[in-house]
Amino acid sequence: MMPFSKCPVCSGEIMEKQVEEIIYSGNNAVIISVKAEVCLKCGERLYSPEVIQKMESIKVKLEKNEIDEFKKIGQFYKAA
Ligand SMILES: [Zn+2]
Repeated sequence: MMPFSKCPVCSGEIMEKQVEEIIYSGNNAVIISVKAEVCLKCGERLYSPEVIQKMESIKVKLEKNEIDEFKKIGQFYKAA
């Protein structure tokens, strides 16, 4: 499934994990839980093309404000 068997950054061991990614657009963000290959040494995350595509489509929806399918879980605040 993955083109890598070792981390392309540091050649460390990689392991499939369920990770949370935050996709930002402007002041909005969507949290998504996806599978990624994570380097045990440097923490580099590698995604399959399907996951990348999914994250891209979420970003596009967020940019267009098509957020009906997303569940609101909280709000972002900014401190000075
Ligand atoms: Zn690495």
